[in-house]
Amino acid sequence: MSLESKFRLSMPADALRAKYDEERVKRLRPDGSSQYQELKGKFADFDEDPYITEEIVRDPIIAEHEAIILGGGFGGLTQGAHLVKQGIKDFVLIERGGDFGGTWYWNRYPGCMCDVESYCYLPLLDETGYVPRQKYSTAPEIFGYCQMLARHFGLYDRALFQTQVTDARWDEAAKRWIITTDRGDRLSARYFIIAGGILHKAKLPGVPGIETFKGHAFHTSRWDYGYTGGGPTQFMDKLGDKKVGIVGTGATAIQAVPHLAEAAQHLYVFQRTPSAVGPRGNRETDPDWAASLKPGWAFEREMNFTASISGRKPVPDLVDDGWTHIHRRDGAERADSPDELKLAAELADFERMEEVRARTAEIVKDKDTAEALKPWYGHMCKRPCFHDEYLPTFNRPNVTLVDTKGVGLDRITENGVVFEGKEYEIDLLVFSTGFEVTSEYTRRMGFDPVGPGGLTFSQHIANGLETLHGLVGRKFPNLFTISTLQGAAMPNFVTMIHEDAINIAHILRWAIDKGATTIQPTKLAADDWAARLLVGIEKVVEYNSKCTPGVLNNEQGAVDEQGRIKEWNPRNSIFGGQPDEFLAILREWRAGHYEDRDLEITTD
Ligand code: NDP
Repeated sequence: MSLESKFRLSMPADALRAKYDEERVKRLRPDGSSQYQELKGKFADFDEDPYITEEIVRDPIIAEHEAIILGGGFGGLTQGAHLVKQGIKDFVLIERGGDFGGTWYWNRYPGCMCDVESYCYLPLLDETGYVPRQKYSTAPEIFGYCQMLARHFGLYDRALFQTQVTDARWDEAAKRWIITTDRGDRLSARYFIIAGGILHKAKLPGVPGIETFKGHAFHTSRWDYGYTGGGPTQFMDKLGDKKVGIVGTGATAIQAVPHLAEAAQHLYVFQRTPSAVGPRGNRETDPDWAASLKPGWAFEREMNFTASISGRKPVPDLVDDGWTHIHRRDGAERADSPDELKLAAELADFERMEEVRARTAEIVKDKDTAEALKPWYGHMCKRPCFHDEYLPTFNRPNVTLVDTKGVGLDRITENGVVFEGKEYEIDLLVFSTGFEVTSEYTRRMGFDPVGPGGLTFSQHIANGLETLHGLVGRKFPNLFTISTLQGAAMPNFVTMIHEDAINIAHILRWAIDKGATTIQPTKLAADDWAARLLVGIEKVVEYNSKCTPGVLNNEQGAVDEQGRIKEWNPRNSIFGGQPDEFLAILREWRAGHYEDRDLEITTD
């Protein structure tokens, strides 16, 4: 029996490979990530904060602190929490938004929720004693939890909201970072921790004529409920006479579309590439189960989930959902020898996507629409989606899918959107077109730190990063980053962010106890980490480079002669191993107290 015959496929694997490639090639475009429109200049209004109820008025602050944290999302929150737990209390958090929350402050679109199980997603549940209300939390609940965390650890007193860092400069004489802000603050800190987010800089599609549109328009992360009526979990009662268009069909749109469809007179969904949408199965938390939970339950569950998505197949599978099923079904049990594992993994991926396509055909009644909604790429090429209402929405008479067959919109006019010469008149245009992920880090942060000798962080990245675990950088003393720069990427990002924050707090405690004025990794430690990142990376690069264009391959889906994504600098790679390996490395380092070996300090 051939390996292929052990998988349920509707066509031979070679035909699937050819189909995937045909679809990928349709989407290749030479401009890659530069196709998108930044929210500045004439698009700056798109970036305004619609959620501020009261503008904060205050004088500029001139102050000195032990540490400054940039960001009030889960990175800043967990960092603040762990600094407090380490007894480090002299710090402030600088946050652009009007409150804590980060992603969950900005994303308030209708239907917004988290696709990672709440019991594993929300950090520090064991400490706050909170039990989420549902298996998958809504955005308002998560935002509320962020506020609860901030209260629990006393972070509100240390927060500077509605404030943006505009510059960070190393003061060689004082051995401190000087941070300036758009409010004229001048803050000096021994340690500067940038937890500025991973998906925070919204982008618009690069479509000709976008600036000419005369109707109402906004990005999903700046939802204008004043125009639509309703709220994140309430019916949008002002859309009943409106023709609404939504551009994009990624993980965000999947959640928003059913709600727009319910409220709008007519909804046009403009699709370039369909998402893979599997079943969700949300449910209320069982109060008896919640009452039975023992201390440490949340950590145990989070690690069980992480083991599953690292391909370990733990028994039992505590979370038992779409994410764990994807990673557990790798075809290994059907392989007869280790040599067959790679092919088995590919065939299992085909099989899972065949199920996604079959589900689409089963739910969506119109055959052409169902065909257009079928995704033809590897399951992990885009964030897999899980939703029970998205696909049925296309059976509604007031919903039209406009499939742009991989090429995107032709143009936008004063009145609406044009594709293949046909103009769709629109009153409200919602851009569900995501966030910058592959653009330069310093562009995404909005400033370029200047280190010793005038070296800028962007120049440093161009030369190739030197860090310990992606957290603390060489040549940039006392600067810490919570990001994917030489760090890991995983579906449950908060798990990674949280572990980063624990390690940074641990390092700061050690440095303060030593009376350090500067701290950075040794060259050996930084070189070792750069090498460790690459273990397993070839597999990741090979998978990503065959993917439909997207964030995993710099929107190009193109590779060089070595099979690597173009412009890929191995030193700036993400961690090539599994999520649980990354966590284990950080924990073992902490437990082993390897600071003296891997970090250099000065005490003058
Ligand atoms: P994405 O970047 O995933 O999606 C953007 C969408 O816009 C894509 O469908 C893209 O098409 C489309 N698009 C871009 N340009 C054009 C164009 N010119 N014409 C037509 N369509 C266009 O953004 P999202 O906001 O959906 O998701 C961003 C990330 O946020 C996700 O990857 C996920 O990590 C996270 N997220 C997580 C959630 C969770 O539950 N944890 C929920 C929602 C989001 P194409 O695919 O062809 O590029």
